Amino acid sequence: MTIRYDNRVAIVTGAGAGLGKEHALLLASRGAKVVVNDPGGSVDGRGTANSVADRVVEEIKAAGGEAVASYASVADWVSAQSIVKTAIDAFGRLDILVNNAGVLRDKSFHKMEPEDFEFVVQVHLMGTVYCTMAAWPIMREAKYGRVVVTTSGSGTVGNFGQANYGAAKMAVNGLINCLRFEGAKYNILCNAISPSAKTRMTEGLIPDAVLDFMRPELVSPAVAWMSSEQCNVSGEIFGANAGFYKRVKYIESEGVQFDPTQPITPEMFAEALPQIMDIAKPVEHGFGTPRLEARLRAMGLIK
Ligand code: NAD
Repeated sequence: MTIRYDNRVAIVTGAGAGLGKEHALLLASRGAKVVVNDPGGSVDGRGTANSVADRVVEEIKAAGGEAVASYASVADWVSAQSIVKTAIDAFGRLDILVNNAGVLRDKSFHKMEPEDFEFVVQVHLMGTVYCTMAAWPIMREAKYGRVVVTTSGSGTVGNFGQANYGAAKMAVNGLINCLRFEGAKYNILCNAISPSAKTRMTEGLIPDAVLDFMRPELVSPAVAWMSSEQCNVSGEIFGANAGFYKRVKYIESEGVQFDPTQPITPEMFAEALPQIMDIAKPVEHGFGTPRLEARLRAMGLIK
């Protein structure tokens, strides 16, 4: 099996540097026509520099690939629509959307201004929403689409000083959880990458001895597979770090079921806590109602 993207058109947001650049280079090297989107600017989202996207376009072209630059921000609905329009104007279609653009405004929560929270949510969550919303009708019409969102352990696990970032990164998982249902009928698959890599976002935070192995291009194979015709899953989160790849799932404990027809007190909850907390026999997290029905049936409360 060879994975290629001939006749496919991809948008990679935030593709001027770091992970996005590597995703764009890999897709282009295998035949995709790529919109390299990046307004440039600092890691906290201040300033702009068109040269950032231009350089990646030049690199793709120099290697024999096809690419155009887009300098628009994902964080505004009108501007995000223009990114999708760039793909249609330049290449006539859109098959792949890699939502990768990101910023950081780290601060402990008690020192964080609402503006720093809103800005990070605007780029990571709303930027992903806007680009996906603009791409969606095109993908539905074509009955084909591959959407990748970029999540983070700061969302799924948490991290000190990143309440804004963690909240936004967790939210994109909720987005694909729902879009996988809406996209299924149209062969639009929506998955998440949870990367770890040496970029300007992580430099200085992880010891160099480890960080040097965390080359951003080692994340791109997972993104490339999620962007391919061969991808056959939706709503999944894949972790990628220094050549290690994994699936991320939510789990539940076996839990405890009291008789719902009888009074249940906070003390009963407290006493059952060891059993509620015990994840020695994890169950995949799922909707509660079908499982409740089975338990109530087992208790003889419903027929
Ligand atoms: P990076 O700063 O090198 O790349 C992010 C890119 O996004 C930059 O080129 C930036 O100019 C661009 N960008 C910022 N605001 C934008 C906007 N409004 N519109 C379009 N582009 C914009 O950092 P990176 O580490 O390569 O991050 C890429 C993605 O991976 C981000 O979503 C980040 O949160 C996520 N991530 C990275 C790591 C890691 O270990 N590096 C871990 C978890 C998640």
